[in-house]
Amino acid sequence: MTYPATTGEFSAAPGHGSRYERSAVIDLDAIRHNVRRLADAASPAKVMAVVKADAYGHGAVPVARAALEAGASWLGVAHISEALALRAAGIDAPLLAWLHTTESNFGAAVAAGVDIGCSGWELDRIVAAAREQERPARIHLKVDTGLGRNGAAVDSWDQLVGEAMDYQDQGLLRVVGIFSHLAVADEPERPETDQQLATFREVLAVAEDAGVDPEVRHLANTPATLSRPDTHFDLVRVGLGIYGLSPFAGQSSAELGLRPAMTLRTLVSQCKEVPDGQGVSYGLHYRTQGDSTLGLIPVGYADGVPRSATGGPVRVAGRTYPVVGRIAMDQMVVDLGRAGLAGADLLGAEAELFGDGADGGPTADDWARAAGTINYEIVTRISPRVPRRFINEKDRSPKASQEKLS
Ligand SMILES: *Cc1c(COP(=O)(O)O)cnc(C)c1O
Repeated sequence: MTYPATTGEFSAAPGHGSRYERSAVIDLDAIRHNVRRLADAASPAKVMAVVKADAYGHGAVPVARAALEAGASWLGVAHISEALALRAAGIDAPLLAWLHTTESNFGAAVAAGVDIGCSGWELDRIVAAAREQERPARIHLKVDTGLGRNGAAVDSWDQLVGEAMDYQDQGLLRVVGIFSHLAVADEPERPETDQQLATFREVLAVAEDAGVDPEVRHLANTPATLSRPDTHFDLVRVGLGIYGLSPFAGQSSAELGLRPAMTLRTLVSQCKEVPDGQGVSYGLHYRTQGDSTLGLIPVGYADGVPRSATGGPVRVAGRTYPVVGRIAMDQMVVDLGRAGLAGADLLGAEAELFGDGADGGPTADDWARAAGTINYEIVTRISPRVPRRFINEKDRSPKASQEKLS
């Protein structure tokens, strides 16, 4: 038995007031802009928008729709269950799922027309599912060109290709794609990408000799899409970039022409004058210097803000403050007195943890630095307790499409 999470449903709308207590605002125009930017970089290769992990925390269904509106032609997820959720929402674009276990539901994938990544062991199970569904499976053969995770070892590639072609000849499957994944594309100066690319070309040649005629050969992730045109082949699989975040340590979103799509906001929930030397939060690792005013920010690690990110930035009333003291499960504190705002009453003021950074505000990159992690993890781990609020969604009601037609 599984139970649905309850918190999100009750907090999804504003409470008795008109403002959201907490929200992750997702700008679907930013998603569309980023997809167009990446499609330009990838052209003539096509774009697969990677929407695994609930679109890196942004909301898989609205993001998938926005990506398709902006020119993505494929969608990619890790799990078959994630793919089935997109199908259940009525999304019928080509869709690939690549990470399976012995308990994965290949039958449901075949029935829903979901493409299945295959590293080797899955092949017989996929074929059994195709027989049961009386429908050929669509598979993408995955080869490990050096990342050391899933994908067939190069030594077993010959055999995998041979077996897949036998099944294809029997009408049980179609080899739609061949793919691999890069290990260090975010560090363009490293030599391993060249080695992986050379290996990928070799395995493609082996497959072609065996008669495979794939629709799509794909290797590039976001950093390779932006920095290595020679890795684009027929299709690029882009995740991070469509969310507007930079995969490169030394380059910002703006420098790459990308717009961060998620803004994390809450409201100051208490403002309190305290004396000199007031300790703050568990462990009392911070003490005020002089009389001051503390602002309470009602989000914490249960909302997905890393506990390790002491010093992370919060913008309140146009100024950015570092979080002082430990980040707790539900809350954290900023010292308003540090900016000469002692005595200010900011109860109910908007507090922004990160956004698009366009006006010098805090970013997910800042939080990644504070926590010693990467921007991928910051946005992806914002928890279901924070309602997602979508802006610039195209109106999909039947009435709206009628109006467009007339
Ligand atoms: C997550 C993932 C991607 C997307 O990577 P980004 O760096 O976010 O663009 C592409 N391919 C595979 C196999 C992945 O698991």
